[in-house]
Amino acid sequence: MSARLNLVVLGKQGAGKGTQCHRLAAHYGIPHISTGDILRSAVKDNSALGREVAAVLDAGALVSDDLVIKLVEARFREADAAGGGLLDGFPRTLAQAEALERLLGEDGVKLCINLDVSTELVTERLSSRRVCQECGSIYSDTDVEAISGTCSKCGGDVIQRADDRPEAIRRRLAAYEQDTEPLITFYTSRGLLATVDGSRSPDEVTAAIQAVVAGRVLA
Ligand code: AMP
Repeated sequence: MSARLNLVVLGKQGAGKGTQCHRLAAHYGIPHISTGDILRSAVKDNSALGREVAAVLDAGALVSDDLVIKLVEARFREADAAGGGLLDGFPRTLAQAEALERLLGEDGVKLCINLDVSTELVTERLSSRRVCQECGSIYSDTDVEAISGTCSKCGGDVIQRADDRPEAIRRRLAAYEQDTEPLITFYTSRGLLATVDGSRSPDEVTAAIQAVVAGRVLA
């Protein structure tokens, strides 16, 4: 194995990418690079980038390839990414996948994990998802934190993301089909795709991903 462990996690919104990446990043000691998190935090900070992308995010549309590619390039230059990174939400289009190949050079993507979950199940998960605006903890609409609107971990406001509302969910899943599914073909053709059933419990999914990484990358 080369020194850098670069992994891509693909999957529809609500497939469990955030939860799994959080665990896998800690397990492998590489940063979780989520373009969605980077963009949302820019919106929250009301930075120039945030003001540029806020409306796009609210509508559940994709921001431009150029913009996210620059963000990912900058993120890989940070010291904690010297050993690689776990990419969540990037690449989203073929142009981004090709840019990532150029960016990583010889030390390319080691494996692309495709978290497979049906559209029905992700729609159900997304509509009931609530999130803490401060620390990013995820809750379900039936959890006490969602009902009270207060995060039990940090006291922040627990809200429904604007892009987790029904119309935005439909748009985001349509964008996924159109733009991202070709990436499955892209990584399959490079012999780098591993499909994992994401409908099982979070622990079972983590174990399945670790088994496939152990067998195909770290072996
Ligand atoms: P996510 O949390 O990955 O669902 O991303 C939330 C939103 O951020 C998306 O609906 C897009 O508006 C934007 N976004 C995140 N990653 C990308 C990307 N790789 N390309 C374009 N837009 C993105």
